[in-house]
Amino acid sequence: MEKVIIIRYSEIHLKGKNRGYFERVFGINIEKSLRGVRHELRRQSGRYLLENFEEKDTELILAKLDKVFGIHSLSVGIKAPTAMDEIFRAASAVACREGTFKVDTHRADKTFPLNSMEISAEIGGRLLAANPALKVDVHEPQSVINIDVRENGTTLVFNEFVKGAGGMPVGTSGKGLLLLSGGIDSPVAGHMIAKRGMSLDCLHFHSYPYTNLQARDKVIELAKVLSEYTCGTSLHIVSVTHIQEEIHKKCNGEYMVTLLRRFMMRIAEKVAEKTRAQCIITGESLGQVASQTIEGITSSNSAIKNLPVLRPLCGFDKDEIIERSKNIGAFGISIQPYEDCCTVFLPKHPVIKPSLQTVEEEESKLDVPALVDEALKTLETMKL
Ligand code: ATP
Ligand code: MG
Repeated sequence: MEKVIIIRYSEIHLKGKNRGYFERVFGINIEKSLRGVRHELRRQSGRYLLENFEEKDTELILAKLDKVFGIHSLSVGIKAPTAMDEIFRAASAVACREGTFKVDTHRADKTFPLNSMEISAEIGGRLLAANPALKVDVHEPQSVINIDVRENGTTLVFNEFVKGAGGMPVGTSGKGLLLLSGGIDSPVAGHMIAKRGMSLDCLHFHSYPYTNLQARDKVIELAKVLSEYTCGTSLHIVSVTHIQEEIHKKCNGEYMVTLLRRFMMRIAEKVAEKTRAQCIITGESLGQVASQTIEGITSSNSAIKNLPVLRPLCGFDKDEIIERSKNIGAFGISIQPYEDCCTVFLPKHPVIKPSLQTVEEEESKLDVPALVDEALKTLETMKL
């Protein structure tokens, strides 16, 4: 009898011929998330089993696995040889001593002489005999004893199915570059896309010395939160101070944010090229602020030449985003006060519905390629 954690996949089984690949990446991601914690991971027809871990690490392991995309459900249970006495011993170990229960059996090993109903009845009968305060209730039991008779001579016995993170293993949907500000939205956007199996690099723009170094530390903390879901990430940091100064000097101030956004996109595209990211991800949500009207989005989008821009939050309300931010553990960091580069030289009345033509006219006052090149020279990268 041995304590195990059963890890079931979610959508991976849908992937036909690629199944082997998905399972491999999934296994590697689990190993990465459990680095430093003693365990053994084994693949067993349609699931992974985690064995040889220390009892005291169980909660820690479950917390780490809660952040691994691709997990449909988890169960902490017992692995026993497929024999009725052994199964009963395992069932006794997970059973409550009082209250109502039922036994649910799934039998993958069709060679075992008892069928699933017979196994449930026999184990249930033995449990009742051994625990007078237990009662069977097949409709609304207080606890369930699940028995899963596998093909390889072992049986898994457990109580609960705990919901996993869902989604697909990170790394199976390519790589994206997340524009990570210090705000609430962009970490949530990154989390949503990572959930669909995309690995992430992050790109942050600062306007030091107008923005302070705390803003930078905050973004590092946010990237670390994301990295727990993405098996690590690289954070790229670029200064746009000179660009803002130049816009401030030469252009209509109302266009500060609009023009800056276009520079961000251009720089992002260059960084993506360098890091082989296949798309850009932002935390924009339609109509949320002046720069996120459809006209604002059109303006920033048109500065991008070759890559798609994913905006997973476009249809979300702020309160929905905040709820997600809390769930992923980013909210407490995101709400710490800081100055974003977009608030530097912030005009009293930013243009709300910029026409692309006017934006381009304003932009023609600037040496765009030179400003982009200068920004790229400030690029720093840290691995998290
Ligand atoms: P967030 O909460 O993510 O900052 P927001 O609601 O404050 O979003 P904006 O500040 O308008 O909205 O930014 C929209 C998106 O542009 C952000 O979600 C982010 O993807 C990107 N962005 C804005 N500022 C920066 C920055 N300093 N560095 C990197 N990306 C940024
Ligand atoms: Mg912001």
